[in-house]
Amino acid sequence: MAVNADLRELYQEVILDHNRRPRNFRKLDPADRTAEGFNPLCGDRLTLYLKLEGDLIRDASFEGSGCAISKASASMMTDSIKGKTLAQADELFERFHHMVTSTADDEIETETLGKLGVFSGVREFPVRVKCASLAWHTLRAAMLAKDEPVTTEDPAL
Ligand code: ZN
Repeated sequence: MAVNADLRELYQEVILDHNRRPRNFRKLDPADRTAEGFNPLCGDRLTLYLKLEGDLIRDASFEGSGCAISKASASMMTDSIKGKTLAQADELFERFHHMVTSTADDEIETETLGKLGVFSGVREFPVRVKCASLAWHTLRAAMLAKDEPVTTEDPAL
């Protein structure tokens, strides 16, 4: 894929690395929670698996196919939610969502997001926001134990 100068910063090395070698890219069987996500704008699809112990996320993994941003996002998300409670993961969702949907002038606190801060660049590429947030919307569906597949075209998202 050709990456032009504007997109170069977006596709930071860490994103390219997670795309090449996605972490937690496997099925969890059995999983306590499973959810499917689809981003029709880009064709990104993923299935998310969670293993819970009480309200603690013991393990998280995903399978699917999509662009570099969606894959890297799912890879880094599953890494960052392991060992967190559902409430903490939901808080992280809120912070991530705020970061990628804020305007370029908005101050964003990337310290609390750690490595996930690399996705702040998608703010300037509205189509890419869906790619970056697909895994997170799927996570929320898994946490709410929704049976319906989620799509980034849902007006509620
Ligand atoms: Zn995508």
